[in-house]
Amino acid sequence: MSQYIADPKRYESVRYRRCGRSGLRLPPVSLGLWHNFGGVHSFENSRAMLRRAFDLGVTHIDLANNYGPPAGSAEETFGRVLKLDLAPYRDELIISTKAGYDMWPGPYGEWGSRKYLLASLDQSLKRMGLEYVDIFYSHRPDPGTPIEETMSALDSAVRSGKALYVGISNYNVDQTRAAIEALDAPCLIHQMRYSMFKREPEEGLLQLLEDAGVGGIAFSPLAQGLLTDRYLAGIPADSRVMTDGRFLKAGDVDEGRLAKVRALGQIAAARGQTLAQMAIAWLLRQPAMTSTIIGASKVEQLEQNVTAAANLSFAPEELARIEEIL
Ligand code: NDP
Repeated sequence: MSQYIADPKRYESVRYRRCGRSGLRLPPVSLGLWHNFGGVHSFENSRAMLRRAFDLGVTHIDLANNYGPPAGSAEETFGRVLKLDLAPYRDELIISTKAGYDMWPGPYGEWGSRKYLLASLDQSLKRMGLEYVDIFYSHRPDPGTPIEETMSALDSAVRSGKALYVGISNYNVDQTRAAIEALDAPCLIHQMRYSMFKREPEEGLLQLLEDAGVGGIAFSPLAQGLLTDRYLAGIPADSRVMTDGRFLKAGDVDEGRLAKVRALGQIAAARGQTLAQMAIAWLLRQPAMTSTIIGASKVEQLEQNVTAAANLSFAPEELARIEEIL
């Protein structure tokens, strides 16, 4: 690929959103590297998506220690693209990573001990070739570690200069309250599974985040591709169900879901959006939500999803009809 020079118009059409009560603003659509950026994937495709994302004003890239496969390789891919293309723009980027899931053998390779979190952050920085990450997350709550220990490890990451902000992911309402309390640094952000098909955050978490001034960021906002036209005519050979199948299975593509997808697609079309765009906009209408983290296997998906923010308002009748379908 040729020498990369970022599009000078990249900031013209994006309206960045304040993350909770912090001073940090994030794009409405962020890019996650969970799938399609591992060592087993085409490096040039991963690179093309990252370059295009930045050209479209997507300043936030979300990673975790274990993204791949193999685990760690998504951070290596990102590190390569940073070196080749994005390094001159480091100060325009918000890079996040996490530790919490299984990463290396033995008792210190997963969960939420101080030992694991800080060793993992050092490994992540090395893989990405970074001196610091912008956001470091506890990827999941650890029932076997006092919350004070996990949170003090996040605080240490900030104090050592290896992370600018900290966040939590997959914490329920009570765990979130305890985490916010235990942290010295403000909790910047909460990363949760939230989509039209997965609505648990509406049961108290969103309200808590709003009250506490913590930004919400939704992962798998398209339910891994179900909330798009991807599966309407069968299961394509290049879809996540076929190419990966660990987290999204053929059995998830059932007739009940597809009927909802078709009905939702009609509402989206009447709004001048694709279903993917409407599904993202529907999340962003919540005051607690700062951003969404989409995944993509192709540049075109990314391009389509990023423009979701062009129409974020919903008429009461639209919301009621969506509710009826869901
Ligand atoms: P999505 O729900 O956005 O699903 C992305 C997938 O949907 C794509 O890979 C693609 O699948 C398909 N797709 C996307 N856009 C379109 C489109 N316009 N038309 C048709 N199909 C489309 O998110 P992910 O599940 O990928 O998760 C996003 C990010 O969230 C992750 O990368 C990660 O950063 C974060 N995450 C965090 C977790 C946590 O525990 N904190 C857990 C899970 C995710 P296909 O391959 O079929 O083309």
